[in-house]
Amino acid sequence: MQYQRVLLKMSGEALKGHTEFGIDPQTVLKFAEEIKQVKAMGTEIGIVVGGGNIWRGKTAEGLGMDRAQADYMGMLATIMNGLAIQDALEKIGVPTRVMSAISVAEVSEPYIRRRATRHLEKGRVVVFVGGTGSPYFSTDTAAALRAAEINADVILMGKNGVEGVYDKDPRKHNDAVMYHELSHKLVLEKGLEIMDSTAASLCKDNGIDLVVFNMNIPGNIKRAVMGDKIGTTVK
Ligand code: UDP
Repeated sequence: MQYQRVLLKMSGEALKGHTEFGIDPQTVLKFAEEIKQVKAMGTEIGIVVGGGNIWRGKTAEGLGMDRAQADYMGMLATIMNGLAIQDALEKIGVPTRVMSAISVAEVSEPYIRRRATRHLEKGRVVVFVGGTGSPYFSTDTAAALRAAEINADVILMGKNGVEGVYDKDPRKHNDAVMYHELSHKLVLEKGLEIMDSTAASLCKDNGIDLVVFNMNIPGNIKRAVMGDKIGTTVK
């Protein structure tokens, strides 16, 4: 096994499965089962979950809403996703803590770094919700931030049906070529759309490695943790 402590970034979109919108509990359960397998290997897992399956601040801004207000709603969406992940993991016997950057004391713990690392050491999965707690950021940036804070060995960027990073959009171009390995510098220079530039800069400046992979292929989370050659590695 290559990685001891990992930060898994799950986009909100991944949780909706084949439904149009929101959360499909069966899809969440499938991911939970994969996470359980990885836990069984002794890997410590933190998860940052997005909210795009429910709400995106930027989209709502485009439709006339105040951006900061809309972004706070996006952060609330991530909390719902985190609770669904906790539900699925605990149903199959994986102790899980949800830690939020926004206070919602009835349903989650506040995010406290030292407490988060203690949970990980005790073998609990920690789901980080509420993004960074600030508008104008993304959950990709939250993933980079939390990965740095908990000293994760790597960010596993689970993509929804995309195998890795390509030179152009593989959904639009048949001749798109996938990179197996990339530098952070090249990601920023070429403007490759792995994550937004704030998140990419944070990874570059703090030397956080990334593995970008297709989370919809069963077994891929485990493969990524084991260091198998899947997707694109960014170092
Ligand atoms: N968001 C925010 N600050 C953060 C993280 C998220 O304001 O630190 C808001 C933002 O509006 C974003 C929404 O929450 O559109 C959902 O997060 P994101 O788009 O990153 O989710 P994903 O695309 O990963 O599902």
